[in-house]
Amino acid sequence: MKELCLAVLPGDGIGPEITAQAVAVLRRMADQGRFRVTLEEAPVGGAGYHASGHPLPQATLALCQKADAILFGAVGDFALDHLPRELRPEQAILGLRKALNLFANLRPVMIYPELAGASSLKPEVVSGLDLLILRELTGDIYFGQPRGIRVLENGEREGFDTMVYRESEIERIGRVAFEAARKRGRRLCSIDKANVLETTQLWREVMTDLGKSYPDVALSHMYVDNAAMQLLKNPKQFDVMVTGNMFGDILSDEASMLTGSIGMLPSASLDANNKGLYEPIHGSAPDIAGQDKANPLATILSAAMMLRFSFGLLEDANAIERAVRKVLADGLATGDIARDRCQMVGTRQMGAAVVAALEEGS
Ligand code: NAD
Repeated sequence: MKELCLAVLPGDGIGPEITAQAVAVLRRMADQGRFRVTLEEAPVGGAGYHASGHPLPQATLALCQKADAILFGAVGDFALDHLPRELRPEQAILGLRKALNLFANLRPVMIYPELAGASSLKPEVVSGLDLLILRELTGDIYFGQPRGIRVLENGEREGFDTMVYRESEIERIGRVAFEAARKRGRRLCSIDKANVLETTQLWREVMTDLGKSYPDVALSHMYVDNAAMQLLKNPKQFDVMVTGNMFGDILSDEASMLTGSIGMLPSASLDANNKGLYEPIHGSAPDIAGQDKANPLATILSAAMMLRFSFGLLEDANAIERAVRKVLADGLATGDIARDRCQMVGTRQMGAAVVAALEEGS
């Protein structure tokens, strides 16, 4: 039986409430004899700062390095916004990505039939939507050097950043994308701005070359401005999209809003060996923290991604996703996904309903 050694980083705000529900799901599955699991918790973000003066304490990082995978809640605490940038809670997530070399960010964007009305787009444009966005996470203009703000000879200030990608970095994320497309609809759309930016011209060339090794995947290319438009016009045309760090940052947020419910979307950030950090895409939601109002489903679905991508436990991942679909079909809803004739529940009750649905489906 597989043994899962997990680091659990609840973080701030609603983080502890939502991770507790995902942990309950994993524990219940272990009780069902599906796998063995060891869970160790550590503070991160504002909680890390309060515990030991840094958003990513050494002991937390060491735990993450030792673990097979990391379940992450959310970080962010407006009360700490006065701190220097390197001590703010959000730095923890950047530090983890860097220290663990988590270069591939996977964001599935799908619409559950019960929630099609929650999107700001017409239900017929989004219903049935099921796409995967792959964003490169450790390179590009966010990390390129040199960068800064300098003073010109005439005294005017000038800001500058460097967009840079090595062939090996492009190929690495490209392979993850082609492999992911193979497991889905076998269509991959690579997003760039090759008509204007040299870096992304190289991106297109590398993706095209790589495509020759994946003849079973239909590769297409699209400029980022058109991609932003197509996501709103006809998002169902996409199966898997792959892009760099900055374009991916923007497009993945745009795409997540097609579903209309930030509390439903999971994500994974993987290294070259599929070790990963799994987290909901939303933040720490301080406005509803501690009130049993947060939707735990994005975190529970992140645990499903963990079983699939880090442990190859596909059937168990599917079981969680089936359980989530069941509670939605049964009409249960937290405030963020409230709709006509739904049964409003809190965080704990939603988590318990998923655990119960798991029992029925097993
Ligand atoms: P947010 O995602 O925390 O909240 C935006 C809105 O969505 C709020 O109204 C919130 O109540 C609601 N919401 C979010 N998650 C929800 C859930 N699971 N269920 C129900 N409603 C939910 O974004 P924000 O308010 O801009 O940021 C709050 C803090 O989170 C900030 O400190 C920010 O830096 C941080 N943040 C952290 C991460 C992360 O940990 N990866 C990501 C984004 C923002």
